[in-house]
Amino acid sequence: KYEKNDMSQEMKRKISEHPCYSGEAQHKFGRLHLAVAPKCNIECNYCDRKFDCVNESRPGVTSVVLSPKDALAWTDQVLAQHPFIHVVGIAGPGDPLANEETFETFRLIREKYPDLTLCVSTNGLMLEDRFSDLLKYNVETLTVTMNSMDPDIQMQIVDHIVYNKKHYHGREAAEILIEKQISGIQKAVDAGLAVKINTVLIPGINDNHILDMAQKFHDMGVYIMNIMPLINQAKFKDRRPPTDAERNTLQNACLPYVKQMKHCRQCRSDAYGLLGQDLSLLSKTRGDELRS
Ligand code: SF4
Ligand code: SF4
Repeated sequence: KYEKNDMSQEMKRKISEHPCYSGEAQHKFGRLHLAVAPKCNIECNYCDRKFDCVNESRPGVTSVVLSPKDALAWTDQVLAQHPFIHVVGIAGPGDPLANEETFETFRLIREKYPDLTLCVSTNGLMLEDRFSDLLKYNVETLTVTMNSMDPDIQMQIVDHIVYNKKHYHGREAAEILIEKQISGIQKAVDAGLAVKINTVLIPGINDNHILDMAQKFHDMGVYIMNIMPLINQAKFKDRRPPTDAERNTLQNACLPYVKQMKHCRQCRSDAYGLLGQDLSLLSKTRGDELRS
């Protein structure tokens, strides 16, 4: 099992301190999410743009968006108070790779904190194209949300994409997104990053396809997979989310092929601290205080 996850000792240590990659680490080590990335370049049918990217977050809250400079100041404050945080990630509120602020933030943080693990979560559309910029700042852990490898399924989940300033819809959009996700994931695995895949389980759409994806992820060398329940909102507001039993059965079926994350809390894109303890840059007031 998992014999392809052949990683360096240093990467193994980093993962053992990353709360999302290791079930044991979640109780001892925290993460800090910096909400510096408001724009998105695709439209998932389960996304309500009023809130954080639900590929990594719960709906119902919008994180305070910080500038890269303010994000660095916030990082200074949080790390000083929470020395058990060894991971700083960018997960929204839109798609991190669709926002230049993401790269500027990584630059500032890396310059000041050479030993932190930098983490990013993306829909994958720009992963291949921006990969060298992630490498430049030594981003080591990466999450890609991938809900299908079959364009006929993907086109039911994603309404449209914007790639190189051009809008694509339907099957064409789905084909481009899948191609970009696969090439980006492979590039990241080959470069030695620890790759996590988030897959939103949508009964009646991609449920029968997820096991095939897990087998492919095994072949590609993906480190861990996080099968998340659909949050039924926006165009998918009338769809049924999966039951816990359905998700559990699928996770167990995928387990022989790729390690399964079962402790995801669908955090806000400005969350920090231990998973499940829900500290966050809660109000605009606090964001304003930081800027003053
Ligand atoms: Fe919404 Fe995230 Fe999908 Fe973008 S990638 S449309 S922010 S769920
Ligand atoms: Fe980790 Fe899930 Fe929270 Fe992301 S949303 S930081 S994967 S627990």
